[in-house]
Amino acid sequence: MMNSIPNVPPPINEPVLSYAPGTPERALLKETYARMHGEEIEIPLIIGGREVRTGNTEVQVSPHEHGHVLARYHKAGAAEVRQAIDAANKAWKDWSNWPWEDRLAVFQRAADLLATRYRPVLNAATMLGQSKTAHQAEIDSACELIDFLRFNTHFAQKLYSEQPFSGPGMWNRLDHRPLEGFVYAVTPFNFTAIAGNLPTAPAMLGNVALWKPAATAVYSGWYIMQILMEAGLPPGVINFLPGDPGPMTETILGDRSLAGIHFTGSTSVFQMIWRQVGERIDQYRTYPRLVGETGGKDFIVAHASADPAALATAIVRGGYEYQGQKCSAASRVYVPQSLWPQVRELTLGMMETIRVGDVSDYRNFMGAVIDRKAYDKITGYIKHAHAADDVEVIAGGTYDDSVGYFIQPTLVQVQDSAYQLMCEEVFGPVVSLYPYPDAEWEQTLQIVDQTSPYALTGAVFSNDRAALLQADRALRNAAGNFYVNDKPTGAVVGQQPFGGARGSGTNDKAGSILNLVRWISPRTIKETFAPARSYEYPFLAEK
Ligand code: NAD
Repeated sequence: MMNSIPNVPPPINEPVLSYAPGTPERALLKETYARMHGEEIEIPLIIGGREVRTGNTEVQVSPHEHGHVLARYHKAGAAEVRQAIDAANKAWKDWSNWPWEDRLAVFQRAADLLATRYRPVLNAATMLGQSKTAHQAEIDSACELIDFLRFNTHFAQKLYSEQPFSGPGMWNRLDHRPLEGFVYAVTPFNFTAIAGNLPTAPAMLGNVALWKPAATAVYSGWYIMQILMEAGLPPGVINFLPGDPGPMTETILGDRSLAGIHFTGSTSVFQMIWRQVGERIDQYRTYPRLVGETGGKDFIVAHASADPAALATAIVRGGYEYQGQKCSAASRVYVPQSLWPQVRELTLGMMETIRVGDVSDYRNFMGAVIDRKAYDKITGYIKHAHAADDVEVIAGGTYDDSVGYFIQPTLVQVQDSAYQLMCEEVFGPVVSLYPYPDAEWEQTLQIVDQTSPYALTGAVFSNDRAALLQADRALRNAAGNFYVNDKPTGAVVGQQPFGGARGSGTNDKAGSILNLVRWISPRTIKETFAPARSYEYPFLAEK
């Protein structure tokens, strides 16, 4: 044990590499992608640091080339889930007592491995498995995950420094204990960074985790696991468990040592998990912490004073990057009628130049949507829009799944602000737009606020300060991440802590100290230096 109060290296957001023609990063990523594309790998479970093969396997394919198998992965059954719980509980005994600086050093090292040697590997895995372009992969699987690891270690130190006052003759301290039990991390397909963050944020604070990746992101998840193990994460601290979510979750929620759930995914699944925990609440050793970031129906609302070019750019970038599969993606837009002709021309002009296709062709701005289920759901909305009265598909509206699950960026103009595409989460490259009468600015703000059960992200565009103030007040509870004259996507760790309320989640702000607070159970210690030696107080005296 050293006599020191160390400082975690100060975090700086990882610079985004450009991948422009002629750059070394572009050559390396292309080479890595080609190599990984040429091999089919086998992915075991990792339980207690050991590879486990169940023989019950599933394949992961490339969304933009769905005939191409990337990996065959083993799925956990009830026996492996129980083994993982045992491994986690065993690891907890040691890991929860490690000096905090040694724990945090593991994740600092993981960040550096990812920033260097593993960068092209995790980016290529995210491109191949989740159909992200080079740029979308870079800002997710490289920069955001590196930022999560570096900023969270910094926030952990800050959290540990949070100590109470001490009156005369005593010393009060807080011991920021990890939770007593394991955390179940359930991760989505759409961000490799979130998949890495959900098990590691609790683990940094001395917790142990069972990590269930999404079926369509096992491939990139496997490489995250490699990085963590190479960085020195002890066996059993994070157990990697791909598998069928329903039965696995049933077994996991049935264990009394469940101490927390770190979830990102759809609202319905999170609500189901919450319900299942509630039904068993008397069986747990401790009240499980439930942290969930879920769906959204993210908006852009423009005032008549908005800059049309900035607005059109926000619609295109916010709505269609990563095929609209960001939880923060702009999917409903409200534009004043006076501005609409100009915004329409600018937006359609940009959309005409967008290329959709295989992400290994860097000219493509968009790849494929994640799988058959998503493709069917999104194209179902497009078919409905084609057929509906008072709804006009003004751009895109076509799709083709012969090679990959490709859907053209689609813009739908509606006359009814309550049309289903304005209210429901589509999670695809479909933006619906309602041109509102200029005189109804205030009513429109009310519509924006009341239209959906979600409250994740939203943006207002205006060059009129008074209008911005009105929007700020009217939409205060409509978005957990609110943007002024900017697109509602692209939150950066340490700069815009992310999360929404209402139906969008518990709003525990991933990548901030507010999230880490959920993974500790502080113990207050009061030490008295010269304790009282008689029970009597002075007031008891007769005179
Ligand atoms: P999803 O809900 O289908 O899956 C998320 C995770 O839940 C996966 O690991 C999946 O296997 C698991 N799951 C599915 N059924 C389950 C069950 N019955 N029991 C337990 N686990 C189960 O979501 P997805 O398609 O991976 O991701 C898209 C959704 O995630 C969208 O709704 C999006 O808005 C949301 N999302 C939200 C945020 C945020 O920060 N708010 C970020 C990313 C994604």
